[in-house]
Amino acid sequence: MKGQKILIVEDEKKISRFLELELKYEGYEVETAYDGREGLEKGISEDIDLIILDLMLPKLSGIEVCRRLRNHTEVPIIMLTAKDDVSDKVLGLDIGADDYMTKPFAIEELLARIRVNIKKSPKNNTEDENNNLLKYKDLVLFKDNYRVEYNDEEIELTKKEFELLEYLMMNKNIVLSRDKILENVWGYDYFGETNLIDVYVRYLRSKIDQKYNVDIIKTVRGVGYIIRD
Ligand code: CA
Repeated sequence: MKGQKILIVEDEKKISRFLELELKYEGYEVETAYDGREGLEKGISEDIDLIILDLMLPKLSGIEVCRRLRNHTEVPIIMLTAKDDVSDKVLGLDIGADDYMTKPFAIEELLARIRVNIKKSPKNNTEDENNNLLKYKDLVLFKDNYRVEYNDEEIELTKKEFELLEYLMMNKNIVLSRDKILENVWGYDYFGETNLIDVYVRYLRSKIDQKYNVDIIKTVRGVGYIIRD
């Protein structure tokens, strides 16, 4: 796995150098900028995983850097503020900073916040999100919350209808026999009652295929059902 890269935007060389050493010691790659303009440029043009942004900066204030960065990137931003800058903190969070630290701060706390903010960063969550949804053309199924949408319009399904659709979508391009569907969606308890599948497929078709005039769930005569590309 590639190292994560952190951009430090801080004009005070002593603080910047201290942070750089600590972060490198923790295994991060580090990029530095010593004024707002340079920070903005690097924040936009480089592949950065998190930005530590001081508020009091020459050329362009931290608030302005933060505001402009948010037009380009969702990268997590932790602001560094002076102790009594309450209004700056509020403003900073309002314009899209994710967190702030008040100077002077304990490095352990900053490191902890860096880990948290990188973890919840959109960049690191795309994979999870993709694993949690199934797509077939305009039909999207969100596994986590039993939600199904066709063309962004929500389709109301019962739990079993949802599970049947999920099973069919998960096994796209595979012919699924009624017995197999029964076993995997309903469990062994229902062994033998394969006409149940036909009833539920009919429900799904009336809510999806017929409603949107599409032909998603196909019958394979004498065998079962399939969703085919
Ligand atoms: Ca400063």
